[in-house]
Amino acid sequence: MTDSISRLSTYFESIVGGKNVRRSPEDLQHLGKDWTKEFEPRPSVVVLPATRQEVQQIVAYCHRQRLPYVPSGGRTGLVGGAVAQQGEVVISLGRMNKVREINCTGMYAVVEAGVTTQQLQEAAAQAGVMFAINLTARGSAHIGGNIATNAGGTQFIRYGGMREQVLALEMVLPDGRFLPLGSALRKNNTGYDLKQLFIGAEGTLGIITAATVKLVPRPAKLATLCFAVGAFDNVLRILEMSHLSAATLHTFEFLSHHAYRMVLRIHKNLKPLFEKKTAGMVLIELDGERDAVERFVNKVFSRQLAEDGVVAQSQAERQMLWSYRELISESLSTYKLLRKGDVSISPPDIGTFLSTMRQRLSADAAQDIETAVFGHIADGNLHINFASNNPDAGERIDRMDRKMHQLVGELHGSISAEHGIGLRKKDYLALSRSAVEIELMRTIKLGIDPHTTCNPGKIFDV
Ligand SMILES: Cc1cc2nc3c(=O)[nH]c(=O)nc-3n(C[C@H](O)[C@H](O)[C@H](O)COP(=O)(O)OP(=O)(O)OC[C@H]3O[C@@H](n4cnc5c(N)ncnc54)[C@H](O)[C@@H]3O)c2cc1C
Repeated sequence: MTDSISRLSTYFESIVGGKNVRRSPEDLQHLGKDWTKEFEPRPSVVVLPATRQEVQQIVAYCHRQRLPYVPSGGRTGLVGGAVAQQGEVVISLGRMNKVREINCTGMYAVVEAGVTTQQLQEAAAQAGVMFAINLTARGSAHIGGNIATNAGGTQFIRYGGMREQVLALEMVLPDGRFLPLGSALRKNNTGYDLKQLFIGAEGTLGIITAATVKLVPRPAKLATLCFAVGAFDNVLRILEMSHLSAATLHTFEFLSHHAYRMVLRIHKNLKPLFEKKTAGMVLIELDGERDAVERFVNKVFSRQLAEDGVVAQSQAERQMLWSYRELISESLSTYKLLRKGDVSISPPDIGTFLSTMRQRLSADAAQDIETAVFGHIADGNLHINFASNNPDAGERIDRMDRKMHQLVGELHGSISAEHGIGLRKKDYLALSRSAVEIELMRTIKLGIDPHTTCNPGKIFDV
């Protein structure tokens, strides 16, 4: 085994150079996993190519030798999609990090797969435009990873997710062939849109090496508002009002009281925004004229939909308000046991979902398990997290997680809103997709990757 890994490494070194093939236990641990804690990484070797041609050579070799491999981006994934559990080769795209072009006539950017979300956001901002995807993991997540997971994020309600941003892809197929798909053209109605098959495929159908993505004008006048809301029904009434406002809805995030208190408990430098115990708070961004925003705020209070509220008066205040939302994931990661959830429910059904969930989980939920709910609620996207510092709470957390996903299925929601399926949600896939759909997905997988070398065991088993 060690011999064959040595031979493999020597071959990969001949392609990418010695320092770009990693085998130390620390590198294997670090580069063989994503943000999830529940899967133990065991890759055989990590390779870091710098060009599409190098990716092609590595993949073609794996195809010939029937060697399984895992495409790896910024490793911020939350479902174990980039985890190498069974001796796979990890192909890490981090060295392919060039922004090739920002074009404000065609309003597009051409980037390599390893460019981070933030790097593209900054390059776009420098040119006076905007890349529409925004997520807390932007400093580490790659555009390739964003495309492979069809990332959503905080501005989905206005601009859609990654699927809506991609104009063209450069793919390396599991047999090593290069497949360019699409161009910078916005209108191109020429048969099947094959690139959509690879977006959200979680690296199971090939490796994305570069992409052309849309750019959008920057919001003209963004107002950031935060309300403490007494009853959950009022969150949905404020959401409806923001859709009807003369200003354009840019963001609508919800934090349960529990999630908010948890951030305050762990980040002691943050001051409480609201003292009252409420159902939670909403963080809203509206893009529009000042009087439209004022009318909206006045209506929220005159209809008694909020207990309290804050309107950011500066960029520093805007960042301060966002920090309550953006520090939730970091706060959750301090717990010994953590089951992260990401589901979507049609917004009018969210109240029923939350109250039924509370009832059904009450037998297992105890003082030692915290349920933190937050998310991009305008898209129906809720992150439901079960966290505990009691090492014996694992079984009860498993049961709560299963019951919560079953309820999502009953309400015709989705067991994954934006994080994907990976290893984490394979067992739940049938709650959101029919047997025929899953069979068709298997057929597509086997048609493109007959030896199942490309990220095997993710999304479903073949
Ligand atoms: C704090 C925090 C906040 C987050 N917020 C959001 C959010 O708001 N919205 C959201 O959608 N997600 C969010 N996520 C999840 C995560 O950031 C996204 O799923 C992101 O798109 C993953 O990108 P990555 O480069 O880190 O991918 P990785 O974790 O490296 O990989 C994810 C999947 O993509 C595949 N992959 C990676 N690169 C490639 C490639 N070049 N070619 C083919 N396949 C590839 C991997 O095999 C794996 O299956 C968050 C995560 C964290 C930690």
